Amino acid sequence: MTETARPEPFFIADDHALDLLNSVATPWGTEIEWLGDGRDLLAWLEQAGLVPPDVSMRFREKTSPEALDGVAVQARELREWFRAFVAAHAGRRLEPSALADLDKINRLLARDEIYRQIEPRAIKARNASQETQGAHSSSLQWRRHRRWRAPEDLLLPIAEAMGDLICRADFERVRNCEGPTCTLWFHDVSKNHTRRWCMMAVCGNRAKAAAHRARRRAARLA
Ligand SMILES: [Zn+2]
Repeated sequence: MTETARPEPFFIADDHALDLLNSVATPWGTEIEWLGDGRDLLAWLEQAGLVPPDVSMRFREKTSPEALDGVAVQARELREWFRAFVAAHAGRRLEPSALADLDKINRLLARDEIYRQIEPRAIKARNASQETQGAHSSSLQWRRHRRWRAPEDLLLPIAEAMGDLICRADFERVRNCEGPTCTLWFHDVSKNHTRRWCMMAVCGNRAKAAAHRARRRAARLA
């Protein structure tokens, strides 16, 4: 499939680590890979909001395509490793024993260089927080930064998103779409925990049409 024909990546999972699993999918019969090379990886990370635009631009300009492609290979490998972890644990509460499988992420995260700075708060954000917290909210705020030293650091926000899902989300609500051949994952954050489909427009409508055909067939046979 050429790049122009490729649709936009799916961000339907309500979680970036699961969105990453969905960065390869077969929604319409042909497999689509959104992390095919280094440029793909940067575009995906930027669209996901995991890498700031100025950082991805700097990597695009200053890093050799070969080095970025190498990181994309590692990102796909990390994605498939995490897919196996999610498939093994989804639908149940994560137990401390799951930690034995998480060495890979912890080793990656140990390389991270995150630091915080005090910066001015944007006026719009200040007004909004005054409404929610009263009139005393500061005009200054914490902001988190990361020192980006090497192309491999692009794996860090991915590892962090995985850690967020593991530590903050309810794994009982991590689900695979009910579409019979659908591989898409999501975190069900719906109020009554009744989400069934990746997207209504893809699998939900397909299921409705199949149920309709089955009813008609049953009616003919009756
Ligand atoms: Zn689906």
